[in-house]
Amino acid sequence: MIPIKVDIEKAERYYEEFIENIWSSKTDGKIFKNYFRELSEKRCMKNTEIGRMLRDEEGLKELILLKPDEVRDLAQTFNDIFYENGAFKKECETVFDELKDLFTKAYNKLDKYAFVNFTDVRVCPYCNRAFVYEPMTEEHESNTIRKIKGQIDHFFPKSKYPILALSYFNLIPSCGVCNYVKSEKDPLEVSELKSPYEIKADEFEFTINIENTNVFSYSLNKIAKGFKVKLKAPKGNNTLFALEDIYNNHKDIAAEVLFKAKYYNEAYIESIRKTLEGIKLTDFDIYRLVFWAYKDTPGNRPLSKFISDIAKQIIRDF
Ligand SMILES: [Zn+2]
Repeated sequence: MIPIKVDIEKAERYYEEFIENIWSSKTDGKIFKNYFRELSEKRCMKNTEIGRMLRDEEGLKELILLKPDEVRDLAQTFNDIFYENGAFKKECETVFDELKDLFTKAYNKLDKYAFVNFTDVRVCPYCNRAFVYEPMTEEHESNTIRKIKGQIDHFFPKSKYPILALSYFNLIPSCGVCNYVKSEKDPLEVSELKSPYEIKADEFEFTINIENTNVFSYSLNKIAKGFKVKLKAPKGNNTLFALEDIYNNHKDIAAEVLFKAKYYNEAYIESIRKTLEGIKLTDFDIYRLVFWAYKDTPGNRPLSKFISDIAKQIIRDF
C-alpha cells in the first residue's frame, strides 16, 4: 500500500476539468442537474445531508470534493439512510435505484484513461506490483482498435454507495488484479481497511527477518531460504490483498536487494561515478541504477516500496 498525497488543489482541478463538463454539457448537463434536484426532494433524501448536496451545483461540488475522512463519514451517513441491520430498507429502494442510475450515467462520462493520467498515479497503490494501465479493445465499425485504459477502484464501492461514484478521493487508480480482489468489499465492514488517501507512510513497511546469519555466504538462489519478508500494514489491507504472502513470493528480488544494499556504501557509489565519468549522475540516479527503484516516490515504479524498505534496513544494519 502506497499513500497518495491528499492534494485539495488537484481535486479542485479534477472538478473543473472533468466534472464541470458533465454538469454543463449542452446535451445532458441540465438533465443531470434537474434529476439530482428532483431526487433531493424524494423520500429518504428530503431534509438529509445528502439531499442538501444534491440540490444544486454548489452542493454537488461539495460532494465531489469531500476529503478522505469526509468520504468515510458520508458513506456512514448513506449507510444509515439506506440500510438497517445489514439489510436494505424497502422504502428507500426506488430512490436508491434512481440515484444509482444517475450516478452511473454520470460516471460513465468520465474519461478513465485521462483521469488516471491526471492523478499521476502510475503504479497500483494497493499492491505496488503492477502499473495501472491495461490493454482494452474497442470496436469501431469493422475495425478492432487496441487502446490502453486506466483502472479505477471505487474505495467505497459504487454499487453500494453510488453517491460517491464521482468523489475524487474515492477514486483510486489501481491494477486490474487489486480492483478485482477489492471489487464490492465495503470498507465499513472490513476492519482496518484504509484507502491510499488515508494511510500514513509509517503505517506500511517491509522488513526482512534474517534467520540465518550466514546468508551472505550463499549464492543468490539459495539465500532466499534464509529469511522471511515481514510486513507492517493495516490488518484489513494486508488480509484483503494477501500482501505479506504475495511479497514472500518475491524473495528472489529481496535477495538481490540484500546483496546490493550490503555493498552500497560510499566507496561503491564512488566507483560507479568513476566508471561512468563524464555523466553527471546525482545520488538519486545512482540509487535508481543500482536498485531499479524510486526511493522517495515508490508509487512511480513497481516494487519500489519493497525494494527501498529492504535496502534501507540492510544499509542501516551493516
Ligand atoms: Zn494492485
